[in-house]
Amino acid sequence: MANLAVNGGKALYEEKDAMMPLAWPPVSEETAERIKELYLSRAWSFNSETEQAFEKAYAAYHDAKFGVFMVNGTVTLESALLALGIGPGDEVIVPALTWIATAMCVKYVGAKVVFADIDPNTFCLDPDSFEQRITPKTKAVIPVHLYAGIADLGRILEIADKHGVKVIEDCAHMQGGKWNGRGVGSWGAVGSFSFQQSKTLAAGESGICITSDDDLALRMYRVKHIGYPPDSRQGHASGGPEAGLICHNYRGLAIPARILLDQLPGMEDILCHYDACTGELARLTADLPNFRLQGTDSKTTRRGYYALGMVFEAPFWGKVTLDRLGAALHAEGVRCLEYTYGPVYKHILFNMDAKDYRQDACPVTEHICDRTICIAHFGLYYKENAVKLSEALHKIAANIGELEE
Ligand SMILES: *Cc1c(COP(=O)(O)O)cnc(C)c1O
Repeated sequence: MANLAVNGGKALYEEKDAMMPLAWPPVSEETAERIKELYLSRAWSFNSETEQAFEKAYAAYHDAKFGVFMVNGTVTLESALLALGIGPGDEVIVPALTWIATAMCVKYVGAKVVFADIDPNTFCLDPDSFEQRITPKTKAVIPVHLYAGIADLGRILEIADKHGVKVIEDCAHMQGGKWNGRGVGSWGAVGSFSFQQSKTLAAGESGICITSDDDLALRMYRVKHIGYPPDSRQGHASGGPEAGLICHNYRGLAIPARILLDQLPGMEDILCHYDACTGELARLTADLPNFRLQGTDSKTTRRGYYALGMVFEAPFWGKVTLDRLGAALHAEGVRCLEYTYGPVYKHILFNMDAKDYRQDACPVTEHICDRTICIAHFGLYYKENAVKLSEALHKIAANIGELEE
């Protein structure tokens, strides 16, 4: 007789008691009213007041002076690279574990992507691997603060400085995060954020670059607004962008900016819920063999969350595939599970050109991808989810033989 629900046993939690996510993205009647006003006002684009208010508030929240709002968090990365003068002939170092956009943006500007490995605790760029991959052609590095991890900004900035390499922080997962008391995205030359539907602050689509460098802010603004500076009427630009700055139309819209402006004050409370649930989960699972949660850098002072990694190591979990494990957890009533991204160099969509990136092996990234299942952030909102998840994990551990190949 099987005990595990995936094998026909009785589930720990039936559907009505299954792990409950926070309904995502959050909605409110007040915002719906304001969107209606905005719609009727006709101020939908072109650096609207709403957009400017959001740029200011969001940059300030992360301790930067300027925000440049755009249509998504991929073009923000591309715009940062363009504004920093990166293009053909240059190399940009990117961690192998990230969403493909972090690497794609390097291709868009004609530069070469070089993959570096990650730290097994934070899942973020390993400073040693970064340093080993620097060549005279390296112009930039894009550390990613992935899932619930913040990269070791101290060492990364020190190495980057020493070699004259620019740092663009990909903060798509780290809304509200702080490192050593200061907002993520404010440490590198630019911080890039995404507000795509699944992110911790969500508006369907859109993104922002933050910086405290006026010149860089202006250049990023020109990049997203087809070359125009702010406050110039169409056909009346007082001066052009510097020669060679490739500009696009990547302008953001007022309605997503309104949604985000309204969500921002509630973000800290959501992060506190995620913290509480994560803390409880760590406590309840401390006795599980060869199991751990994604950790934090020692200087992380405010953790942001896109997801939280659960690592299932050998020998205890060594004969169980992630597919079997995921199915077993789901059958017991666990929800909101996701596989990790990457390694990006193996991703089919990243291998559509002549170079075969699959040779750029990063062993830590491969190991983490083979042994990790993530919980999406909205699954961490209710503290009782930690109890349900822990009970399911313990039940599976007690019946591990049922899942072994
Ligand atoms: C979501 C995401 C992006 C890009 O965001 P889009 O707004 O979807 O273009 C970039 N980097 C990471 C790590 C992401 O998760």
